[in-house]
Amino acid sequence: MQRFAEPMARLIDELRKLPGVGTKSAQRYAFHILRSSDTDANALAAAIHALKQHLRLCSLCNNITDVDPCHYCTNPTRNEHLICIVEEPTNIAAIEKTRSYNGLYHVIHGTLSPVNGIGPDQLRLTNLWPRLAKLTEDATAELILADSPTVEGEATARYLADETHRRFSTLRITRIATGVPAGSDIEYADEVTMTRALEGRRTL
Ligand SMILES: [Zn+2]
Repeated sequence: MQRFAEPMARLIDELRKLPGVGTKSAQRYAFHILRSSDTDANALAAAIHALKQHLRLCSLCNNITDVDPCHYCTNPTRNEHLICIVEEPTNIAAIEKTRSYNGLYHVIHGTLSPVNGIGPDQLRLTNLWPRLAKLTEDATAELILADSPTVEGEATARYLADETHRRFSTLRITRIATGVPAGSDIEYADEVTMTRALEGRRTL
């Protein structure tokens, strides 16, 4: 590999950690930043800094937010008797785009993956159970499992359904339909597909 001056090599190393960025792309981005104006380069650095300074996870739903609790959790027009479990904060956007869901969310930040050492303890579930306990107080309440229809996502949904049934036997649990192409991430589902997946959800 070509040798770069230390500051350049350092930036390339950092950029390579981004998902989907290989060595070649990292070099291209680094050279682009080097050639860009001081204003643009500083704006990029400041945006990254501000992101880490001002964003945190919502203490209720684990969504990424600048205020705690987040805007979904405190919005009085949202149906608090519906909670939809998603894998990542970005999945919320996919569901919001459909405009057919008005409940709350719970982001578990990942999927069960025994081969990668990810068990239930590595998912953000500790603040889920008190929320579900409160949910059982309402007869119309529903927990929607919107994990991706991948092998890991299905295993995670199965675990969550079993564990919820065990703790709160009366709570209605549904799983989104596989209108989302099997094996794909719900992040890439289009609005029509996602709407169908939500509407076609089945009770577990
Ligand atoms: Zn929240």
